[in-house]
Amino acid sequence: TSFPENDDGPIKCRTAVLGDLDKSEQAKLLLRPVLNSLAMIDKVKPIVERVRKEGDAGLRAMTKQFDKADLPSNILRPPYATPSESELPTSVRAAIDQAYANVKAFHQAQAETKPLVVTTMPGVVCSRFVRPIARVGVYVPGGTAILPSTAIMLGVPAQVAECREIVLATPPRPDGSISPEVLYVAQLTGVTCILKAGGAQAVAALAYGTDEVPKVDKIFGPGNQWVTAAKMLVQNDTDALVAIDMPAGPSEVLVIADKTASPIFVASDLLSQAEHGTDSQVVLVAIDLTEDHLAEIEHQIDVQAHALPRVKIAREAIKKSLIVKVDNLDRAIDFSNEYAPEHLILHLENASQVVEKIENAGSVFVGAFSPESCGDYASGTNHTLPTNGFARQFSGVNTLSFQKHITSQELTADGLRILGPTVVELAEREGLEAHANAVRVRLAQLKA
Ligand code: NAD
Repeated sequence: TSFPENDDGPIKCRTAVLGDLDKSEQAKLLLRPVLNSLAMIDKVKPIVERVRKEGDAGLRAMTKQFDKADLPSNILRPPYATPSESELPTSVRAAIDQAYANVKAFHQAQAETKPLVVTTMPGVVCSRFVRPIARVGVYVPGGTAILPSTAIMLGVPAQVAECREIVLATPPRPDGSISPEVLYVAQLTGVTCILKAGGAQAVAALAYGTDEVPKVDKIFGPGNQWVTAAKMLVQNDTDALVAIDMPAGPSEVLVIADKTASPIFVASDLLSQAEHGTDSQVVLVAIDLTEDHLAEIEHQIDVQAHALPRVKIAREAIKKSLIVKVDNLDRAIDFSNEYAPEHLILHLENASQVVEKIENAGSVFVGAFSPESCGDYASGTNHTLPTNGFARQFSGVNTLSFQKHITSQELTADGLRILGPTVVELAEREGLEAHANAVRVRLAQLKA
């Protein structure tokens, strides 16, 4: 992205008064930027095809081309080298350990330990039990940042779910190495192999497998548009037989603030999202705030943004962002539920009592002392969350995302005597004689 040079004017959002807008204008406020995913899918097709045809040789060539790393092999297996103190200072290690412990505690609690067993009729027992997805791929972006937090958020539930093969894919640095932070998390979470590759070629290798790279059953993780488009492409290829976690779009936050909200805190939360990328979505829903209160929030956004190293990114994101003025809490909640934000922060009096009204959101941050950053890194919740309004129908990544359910039923002879006629009736009605017959032959034997 190119930024205007020497642009140090005020950093300011657009403002809309919800009550002044008609229905169609209100609906426009809910829109996210259009993602040109079809064009991107066309661009990643040749990369994906090359990995399918050439396997490891193609993967190595593209790692050299796109990540400037000339590797003898893209695969790294345990034991991984333990990072030295100079590579990974004790304080960073301790922070990773704390985040790992919290995320693990929350995701372990999500694991189902007992099967669900229901006797639907005498002699008819139905059950449902959980099994891990055997082989999973977790993508940790690495192009422009080091993201051990993403490695934790994906590695921990895979570990807790007891997936047999956990392949962590991440682009190597030009010298062929992986960041010590990510390496350390890979050790903690029991990653079974590291795929030193990024972008569409990494996704293709995970989806189809190569001689060296294990094929996986499900691919998780955020990434740039190359990664996202490749995930969409392979999930639609029945040959790949691979699932993905969820559709991905630019990250977003919606903050609801009332008269009790601290302008400093509100501005800091909006900016912590705005610094992610120029396409980040930042919305403030202001409930009946005085002009002075709103002006102080806007002032804080400007002042705090100018103090950030990523001020240029924040400026672009804030320019496209929005303050929506509403009269009361119910209108604020209705708007938020319609928007279905990835992150929702409640700067409200009695914030915890408002949570029950939330219908659609990826993760909720309740009250003045719960900044989004805590969920992004270390409170215990997962930061891989649905964007782009998909919080209407998707959950964020959780332990169950790495598992699937199997159901079973067991009928006794008496159970079949009772249920059999119902099944025969329905099968005959559908014209499926063989279905009916499978019951009839048994009932006949039981009668004899
Ligand atoms: P990345 O790992 O996603 O992508 C780097 C790879 O992109 C390279 O290895 C290369 O193979 C490929 N690539 C780049 N340019 C290419 C080109 N011209 N042709 C073919 N391939 C190309 O790392 P990134 O680029 O830094 O992007 C990280 C993304 O992840 C950002 O968009 C960020 O917002 C997102 N992210 C999201 C979350 C979340 O939870 N929502 C968390 C972390 C990161």
